[in-house]
Amino acid sequence: MRSEMKVKDLSEVRCPKCGGRVKFTLWNFLDSDLNIEETYMLTSGSFFMHTCSNCGARFNVYHSMSFNDPRSRSFIKYIQTDQSEEVKRELVRDLSKFVKEKGISGYTFKVVFDPDDFIESVRHVRFEQKPSSILPLRAICGKSDA
Ligand SMILES: [Zn+2]
Repeated sequence: MRSEMKVKDLSEVRCPKCGGRVKFTLWNFLDSDLNIEETYMLTSGSFFMHTCSNCGARFNVYHSMSFNDPRSRSFIKYIQTDQSEEVKRELVRDLSKFVKEKGISGYTFKVVFDPDDFIESVRHVRFEQKPSSILPLRAICGKSDA
């Protein structure tokens, strides 16, 4: 049995200024080869931004998602969470285990918990094309042995 996450969903948020409903497409997964426009928006920093059609307010809506760049063989997972550092480390551990078990070799995985880190990481794989400089998954939360 496969549990499959939809690539995108329609979602809705309340405008922080007027409380009006703002509908938007929530992407769970982007592939830089398939989603060229969205990838451009991500690297330009406008991806998470929405405009209220009622009052014109612009605001960001951050959400967990993944980004795949086949060219540099990089996969970046952004997890939006208010959990503690300990829980985050656990998440990274679980994902490391998953990646190892799946045996996805030659791919670089990175987990980030901050939207700015996510955008920076995507820019990095898109513009610098140095996959070896992307930190492997296990290194992300290894602050203790830094
Ligand atoms: Zn509004």
